[in-house]
Amino acid sequence: MSDYKFLKYEEFDDGAIVRILLDRPEARNAQNRGMLVELHEAFLRAEANDDVRVVILGGSGKMFSSGHDMGSKVFAEEFFPGPNQHESRKINGGERVGSENLMLQEWHYFFQNTLRWRNLRKITIAQVHGPVYAAGLMLMWACDLIVGADDAEFADVVGARLGMMGVEYFAHPWEFGPRKTKELLLTGDSMDVHEAHALGMVSKVFPRAELEEKTLAFARRIAKVPTMAALLIKEAVNQTQDNQGFTNALQSCFTLHQLNHAHWATITNGKSWIAQPEHGVVSWRDAPPIEPARKESPGGVPTEA
Ligand code: ZN
Repeated sequence: MSDYKFLKYEEFDDGAIVRILLDRPEARNAQNRGMLVELHEAFLRAEANDDVRVVILGGSGKMFSSGHDMGSKVFAEEFFPGPNQHESRKINGGERVGSENLMLQEWHYFFQNTLRWRNLRKITIAQVHGPVYAAGLMLMWACDLIVGADDAEFADVVGARLGMMGVEYFAHPWEFGPRKTKELLLTGDSMDVHEAHALGMVSKVFPRAELEEKTLAFARRIAKVPTMAALLIKEAVNQTQDNQGFTNALQSCFTLHQLNHAHWATITNGKSWIAQPEHGVVSWRDAPPIEPARKESPGGVPTEA
């Protein structure tokens, strides 16, 4: 029952629960443009349907999502001019030049869409497993509740590996707390699911083999709440965060993100929007595995004697 190329859209309990799965396991559910455009359609489809009460967002295969697709053949075909260029690359800034192009494209397809999902008129549950890195965090944070498998871990490596200040939807301080955000972004280290649970970011930690079944059971519980009450609970929290500055803070951090891209574009003479190894970051290709942040260890790769 899937009408999508990069997603699965499933219905349970006569349509009261919708489960959207990122379905590109061979690419570790890396988010290409086609997937993000489909995800927007799928979320709005679930929102429009009055039978739907809860939307689960998960991923097929070994992990929820490894982040933005920055290097696959599909990415390149969708991004650059050619027969398979994605139609969204020809609108919303895609035909503009300089920083205006990236700023508008990222505003529409990384930032404003994520914010729109955060404000979906349904209760949403992120069902995550395995490594959830960088833009994987954005999708997860857009949801109201987060349920993790016992193998889930969280990191934003764009500081250490791309010379960037964080991903486009900068919810980090609201989710990790201000100091932990600085630590995780400055080191690129990860947080495990148990610490994320202790922080309150993750509601449930289930064994990997039981993740789907137990997330559905949790969704069924939430789906029993009268829809008006459920939505107003969500809105009361989201409006509280907005009064504390959430949406404005994310908008201003999005602007900092664009400044950061423009910096790398300037010093690479327009060749790259991100830092290269000669600028002091670890190359994607030779990067060591992401390490868990351990309180008793400074971390980092041990230097050879
Ligand atoms: Zn960006």
